[in-house]
Amino acid sequence: MKEFWSKRVRDMIPYVPGEQPKDRKFIKLNTNENPYPPSPKVLAAAKAAADEALRRYPDPECLALRQAIAAHAELDPSQVFCGNGSDEILSFAFQAFFDKENPITFPDITYSFYEVYVKFLDLTSNLIPLNEDFSLPVERFVREPSGGVVIANPNAPTGQAISLDELRRILNGNREQVVIVDEAYIDFGGDSAVGLIDEYPNLLVVQTASKSRSLAGLRVGWALGNANLIAAMCCVRDSINSYTVDRIAQAAAAAALEDAAYFDQTRRAIMHTRESALTRLQELGFQAAPSKANFLFVRHPKLAGKLVFQALRERGILVRRWDQLRIEDYLRISVGTEEEMDALCAALREIVSG
Ligand code: PMP
Repeated sequence: MKEFWSKRVRDMIPYVPGEQPKDRKFIKLNTNENPYPPSPKVLAAAKAAADEALRRYPDPECLALRQAIAAHAELDPSQVFCGNGSDEILSFAFQAFFDKENPITFPDITYSFYEVYVKFLDLTSNLIPLNEDFSLPVERFVREPSGGVVIANPNAPTGQAISLDELRRILNGNREQVVIVDEAYIDFGGDSAVGLIDEYPNLLVVQTASKSRSLAGLRVGWALGNANLIAAMCCVRDSINSYTVDRIAQAAAAAALEDAAYFDQTRRAIMHTRESALTRLQELGFQAAPSKANFLFVRHPKLAGKLVFQALRERGILVRRWDQLRIEDYLRISVGTEEEMDALCAALREIVSG
């Protein structure tokens, strides 16, 4: 079966993305996509970019997009790196800043792609268990020797965020190594670390257009940090593929950054829906902690996670669940539209009472 495969690939257990069903129409609450369409200005920019210029390579430096991101983040374009979604950005960062001899620290329950990069890139990791309530044991990230730190803030799949004071403690305790803060979900209520970049030359903040900008299908993410870190990211990219962000994606993502009003309107709608869904799920007996992301992480004390997952699927609703120690009974439910959350709550009411 694995004839011709390299040793490294033969032994890999890759990341499994959430299901994108093709056969049947589901209410899709399983991959933290935005339930609202991209801004009309983004669609217009994408269409305008689909012209005869596509015969040319895109700008490998993504200058116009970097300028739009820098203006939004109040940074210099030299402090911005763009890539093909934040997954690519993270994979470049793991290659740019970490070495096998010094394990990277990240939580035991977090974005599962981090451990996949560790294995694929032949690195090592030191997994710090989250506290019982899934909060981050900040002091352990300060105390434990580390070759680098990766923290998703807010964390996935728990939705819990740390404060800037807690992040400062981690940065102060790790001045000799790079601290990556994955802010894929930051626009839904967390405090961004971007304002700390000028103070900490070892801080790399990673963000994406996939969630709060409704552009998961476009594949654009970016890293923000000291120009020295950005130069290392460029070195990795230009050793693999100089053209990771295509012309249409560069134009459309820049338009997304410029449409502040639409961005604000849709992310506020999602936060509002999240809060009312949280209350309704709690009323149905689910244990659900407050979330600063566009998803909720919930369990029912009397029902196995697998059972609820299946029962929702049979009712045409997709959510996400992992066969992983400590969280096997939890479901991660992306925040959809008000109507989608109504359907979710109605289905859960049936499942709980049945
Ligand atoms: N980081 C976290 C914590 C995520 O949940 C995701 C989405 N799966 C990503 C990064 C990657 O997002 P994208 O590649 O679409 O930017």
